[in-house]
Amino acid sequence: MERVQLADHLSFSRVIHGCWRLADWGYSAGQLLSLIEFCLERGITTFDHADIYGNYTCESRFGDALALKPGLRGQIEIVTKCGIKLPSKYGMKSYDTSKDHIIASVEQSLRNFRTDYIDVLLIHRPDPFMNPEEVTEAFLKLKQDGKVRYFGVSNFKRSQWEMLQSYWPFPLVTNQIEASAYRLENFEDGTVDLCLEKRVPPMVWSPLAGGAVFSADDDRAVRLRAVLEQVRQELGAETVDEVLYAWLFAHPARMMPIVGSGKRERIDRAVRALSLPLSREQWFAILQSSMGHDVP
Ligand code: NAP
Repeated sequence: MERVQLADHLSFSRVIHGCWRLADWGYSAGQLLSLIEFCLERGITTFDHADIYGNYTCESRFGDALALKPGLRGQIEIVTKCGIKLPSKYGMKSYDTSKDHIIASVEQSLRNFRTDYIDVLLIHRPDPFMNPEEVTEAFLKLKQDGKVRYFGVSNFKRSQWEMLQSYWPFPLVTNQIEASAYRLENFEDGTVDLCLEKRVPPMVWSPLAGGAVFSADDDRAVRLRAVLEQVRQELGAETVDEVLYAWLFAHPARMMPIVGSGKRERIDRAVRALSLPLSREQWFAILQSSMGHDVP
């Protein structure tokens, strides 16, 4: 599996596995361990988490699985996030990127994963009440203590990225953004351009639009399904999922899609898509079917 270099001593697998929906899969620790090993056999070594996933339960479920085979920790990269507070724990939804909250959240994540370091910590969403000096102090403390190796952000637009980066003395290593043939906002508003400009490969969430490409009945989804099926036939691909992943892989920003399914055959579709050669014409046919009109 191709690796994407994010820093001198950090690379991710091009396909990442996402654990947001992990609590819904109903896997025992042993079954989850077997899924992690399935990913590793295919070269998927990077796993995406957040403190809040599964109402604060996914990290510890993953930690329970890792505890069955502690040697696996050194073979994987753990990405997790902080900064969102859920009503179930805090009474109301809000963002908190204070120094105290960031450090407390990471310390809880370390306990949940039963590890002593996180590979990459992301600020989950831009926080309108963010004090970048506090974020920087928290990051520095976590780095100095060896608790977090690298830092990045998620869902940041250009101004938010540049603001935080102007305080943080090391490069932010990634921006985790939503992107798919169905959800084009980050292509249209300059966020993908920012990743190219900064040479920062984005992690891409909901690469299949959370399943909406297959189930939504709006015009965009209907148009998209028709063109995806046509391209699937042209390529001789087994499923349209592969075409959706190939569309992201083809982009020059070196996008790293995060697979959201716990089903093995669906994880394999993302891996197979790495070897699907999408032509420029096919890429634009998919883009235009999503937009509903030709490019200007
Ligand atoms: P996704 O891969 O776009 O969507 C996964 C969903 O699509 C699952 O419900 C899956 O169902 C369904 N699906 C997959 N293939 C399908 C098919 N062929 N037909 C019908 N349904 C299909 O990704 P996602 O789960 O939305 O997001 C991926 C990861 O991104 C998450 O795990 C998380 O790590 C990350 N994320 C980050 C943010 C952020 O703000 N940073 C936000 C959202 C997600 P099954 O489960 O039944 O396979």
